[in-house]
Amino acid sequence: MKQVTRSTLARTKRMPPGRRRKETPAALRARARRIIARLERAYPGATCALQHRNALELLVATILSAQSTDARVNMVTPALFTKYRTAQDYASTDPKLFEEEIHSTGFFRNKTKSIIGMGLALVERHGGKVPDTMEQLVQLPGVGRKTANVVLGTWFGKNEGVVVDTHVQRLATLLALTREQDPVKIERDLMALVPRAKWTWLSHTLILHGRRVCIARRPKCEECVVSRWCPSSRV
Ligand code: SF4
Repeated sequence: MKQVTRSTLARTKRMPPGRRRKETPAALRARARRIIARLERAYPGATCALQHRNALELLVATILSAQSTDARVNMVTPALFTKYRTAQDYASTDPKLFEEEIHSTGFFRNKTKSIIGMGLALVERHGGKVPDTMEQLVQLPGVGRKTANVVLGTWFGKNEGVVVDTHVQRLATLLALTREQDPVKIERDLMALVPRAKWTWLSHTLILHGRRVCIARRPKCEECVVSRWCPSSRV
């Protein structure tokens, strides 16, 4: 019988999820439970890092955060939210001026189009209020499932799904909680593994863990609280 040496074990652990021996669904669920329990101890109050005081501000900040960082968005939004207080304010702003105001968040032309269109849609279809259903939110310009999940989970306290951003996508793969690459399928896998009440918390937690510890290109596995259940761990 071939002996499993420490180096073989280490190599196996580092193998990409697709090449490892398949884990049974029951073993995966048990491992996911342990990961969640440990993350709950490490990040009990994980929440959205985008500064906001109402649903409209969160919606705008989330649209601005695409291809940007929350820190960068938080530098822009205080002045923006002082000036723009209602959906009508966004609907009637001058696009060129707005582009300048959000320029530093990147992709400012598309974001301007989305936010002005979103403001108009809110005024025309929802009396200026941000709706609280997935169905209505994803009909707004610039709002996809990810943005809708942020607003529903963070502001309205509704666990409709898991936010799959770049951090969540990377961590779900490294932790072998999914074999998928498409965000919608990753979300479906995470929703099946994690109790609904924890979906929003899990999104914020994986994002935080991805920023602080499981950093792309240089994950700090030696500091990671879930390394013993992570097949990609380097320790
Ligand atoms: S930091 Fe290392 S051990 Fe922790 S989740 Fe990332 S790859 Fe796994």
